[in-house]
Amino acid sequence: MKPIYLDHNATTALRPEAREAWLETADRLGGNASSVHAAGREARTMVDEARERIAGALGVLEDELIFTSGGTESDNLAILGGMASLEPGARLVTTPIEHPAVLEALRPLELQGTPVERLEVNAEGHVDLDGLAAACGPGDMLATMAANNEIGTVTDLERLSGRLKASSSGQRTLFFTDAVQALGRIPVHLRKWGVDLASFSAHKVGGPPGVGLLFRKQGIPLEPRQWGGGHEGGLRAGTENVPGIVGASIAMELAVKEQEAYAEHTRELLLHLWQQLVENVPEVRCNGPQMQDPLRLPNTINLRLPHTEGQVLITRLDLLGLQASAGSACASGSLEPSHVLKALGMSDQEARAGLRISLALSTTKTVINNAVDILSRICSNGHNC
Ligand code: PLP
Repeated sequence: MKPIYLDHNATTALRPEAREAWLETADRLGGNASSVHAAGREARTMVDEARERIAGALGVLEDELIFTSGGTESDNLAILGGMASLEPGARLVTTPIEHPAVLEALRPLELQGTPVERLEVNAEGHVDLDGLAAACGPGDMLATMAANNEIGTVTDLERLSGRLKASSSGQRTLFFTDAVQALGRIPVHLRKWGVDLASFSAHKVGGPPGVGLLFRKQGIPLEPRQWGGGHEGGLRAGTENVPGIVGASIAMELAVKEQEAYAEHTRELLLHLWQQLVENVPEVRCNGPQMQDPLRLPNTINLRLPHTEGQVLITRLDLLGLQASAGSACASGSLEPSHVLKALGMSDQEARAGLRISLALSTTKTVINNAVDILSRICSNGHNC
């Protein structure tokens, strides 16, 4: 049997349209987008058109978009470049369930003495929005993700920005969101969300890996974290990955167009998966937001199966033909408990045992039924898997 792939939050298959655009651009590309000759100008046009395509899909201005090498770089640039643009003494307020691309970027800041406050989340991964807004003083930075990659908790950013405005006394808070898992899964309304900075990654929506995007609202100060030629408005030096950028723009545009269908399809299948598991696997639990929670990603579930250890379980499932994840892909292979599950209040042992399943528009009911079959078999063995 063909392996069942249910790890679409780690990465998802390249869309045929994005692949075609990517390959065609690579074949055609003759110049460097910074060169003034005809070959260079052609490459520049390709980058400009890709930027225009994404700006149209996201409803923002072209010069509000900075191309990067992926979600990680976008997160790093937002956090480090954002903090560098603020007055000395500015604090950073965040949550403990952010992606490592955010949490690890805080380390050098903390070493330099920047105060960082991590607000607690509840057992579903929700943070108290009033508490978050109240924790942000004037001139501070707030970093909170739009949607969590491991458990699927969604933040109501529109409400949060309302709270921030209400609590601010003139000088604004610099508001950043990691929207890597939000794009294509839930509606992304950067203006309504009221964010100043937002990160995206192409490979999460069927674009090529190694291409990301940072939205920076017009007029918001940001310092570069990489220096060289003045690419991307001086904010991200380095010769542009033109084929990747073109492929990414096609994938991101399609992801936005298909978002509603994606959400409806994956929500229905995820509910089917959950109902089947409840019937077939006694003691199965859903970690994080429960199925009826409106603030959850439609395609993501984090499971606690009886008598299982995360990494061992993943390996056994892989041998049986089911590819899923113990948490974020970046942490796989490590025996560390998930920092997200720990933040929900779980013990180290419980936080090692989470199984993340993430679906896509291409996932079928047959695939889900086969996955349930494998999961119930593994749990009915009665021994520690
Ligand atoms: N932020 C979130 C929420 C993610 O899920 C990921 C990838 O797992 C990243 C950032 C990093 O993105 P990339 O793999 O493009 O570096």
